[in-house]
Amino acid sequence: MKIINAKLKLFSSLLSHPLTPLLPCSLAPLLLRSLSFLPICLFLIACASSTPAPTPTPSPTPLPRTFTGEFAYTWVVRQCDLGPRVTGTEASRQAGDLFIAELQALGWEVLEQTFTYKETPVRNILAWKGEGEAVLLGAHYDSRRVADQEDTALPVMGANDGASGVAVLLELARALDWETVHQQVYLGFFDAEDNGHLDGWDWIIGSSYMAEHWGEAGESPLTAMILVDMIGDADQQVYYEQNSHPTLSHELWEVAAQLGYAERIIAQYKYAMLDDHIPFARQGIPAVDMIDFDYPYWHTTQDTADKVSAESLEAVGRTLEVWLEGN
Ligand SMILES: [Zn+2]
Repeated sequence: MKIINAKLKLFSSLLSHPLTPLLPCSLAPLLLRSLSFLPICLFLIACASSTPAPTPTPSPTPLPRTFTGEFAYTWVVRQCDLGPRVTGTEASRQAGDLFIAELQALGWEVLEQTFTYKETPVRNILAWKGEGEAVLLGAHYDSRRVADQEDTALPVMGANDGASGVAVLLELARALDWETVHQQVYLGFFDAEDNGHLDGWDWIIGSSYMAEHWGEAGESPLTAMILVDMIGDADQQVYYEQNSHPTLSHELWEVAAQLGYAERIIAQYKYAMLDDHIPFARQGIPAVDMIDFDYPYWHTTQDTADKVSAESLEAVGRTLEVWLEGN
């Protein structure tokens, strides 16, 4: 568009001073003999295009179309910069607002689900895009109120336990190629997962609420649910989880192996987790928890961004991306 405008501008300036710039053109004598308007126009355009075009302003390098661990990692840092995202706090509100703004900027529809639990405001965020059978990818975004594996006077930063899963969802929101994804993708950001056993709180409050109320705002029935939780550990070991759907687990781990991640996303059973996939599994939806529970900093003050690696985020993110784009 810029080059065309430059030619038109040159053309109008030639019209006001028709002869001066025409002389270098070898056709000038012929055209000087022709007085009809059309050949002059053609000639002017021909001469204009022989004039060196202005150097176009360099455009920024396009962002990669594939899931990029470095980009995902920036989302871990941005969440941690807000401080612990404990349910009901200002930092939690800021984190939710940040996700909503990003998702909307990327063209996702967004719904907030708010309710009160033990006099504490809870907010889930649900985003969706695309057409076809519906799948939900989820992560909790709250961080645990106290680091009770270490010091009950201090909160958990939740760089891995919380922020890593969210980071994968947000980078997927950017990177998914909608020419190859033929499903409707929901991204669920669950609040109030991680205060279990503190002051009588249960675990998985936000995801339970979302599962119970699924469909009430017009959400499509789900064919699969995949949870990502604590998947950013630099020393990554994501095993099959025992409460997860076996066939869907196998599909995902197979994709991971094809991508060369078999030593990180390991096709062996290890833990059984009560996590945000359970409320969906209870409704008969094939649900999988991708979780790396071999994390020595779990529920300590040491769960900080330096324990998370871009490579680990990328292994899980690329696996989900390729699975979505291949289904
Ligand atoms: Zn936790």
